[in-house]
Amino acid sequence: MGRTYSDCHFCGGEVKEQRITREVWRHGSLHLIENVPVGVCQQCSQKTILPQVAKAIDRVIAGETPPDHLIQVPAYRLPEPETTTRANRPLSPTTRSPAPGACE
Ligand SMILES: [Zn+2]
Repeated sequence: MGRTYSDCHFCGGEVKEQRITREVWRHGSLHLIENVPVGVCQQCSQKTILPQVAKAIDRVIAGETPPDHLIQVPAYRLPEPETTTRANRPLSPTTRSPAPGACE
């Protein structure tokens, strides 16, 4: 629809438009913008976004448009990694641990 992308900046490949969902973090919360037109290089998959599209995304996130819908996403907090197994002391014989360098 009149939108043109120049050839890929990196490899000179052909760039075609695709619609993607873009994730943007703003003020500590995740915003999803669906149906975003981006140019995707057919050779190296490099994505380019037109300035007017980037501006439209900024306006949406600035709150000028109410969200179309809300989604819930699972959020996890990674537990502290266990450090005891890496402590510099001999393992007891009952500890079943792969030998150093062994592949699992
Ligand atoms: Zn490319």
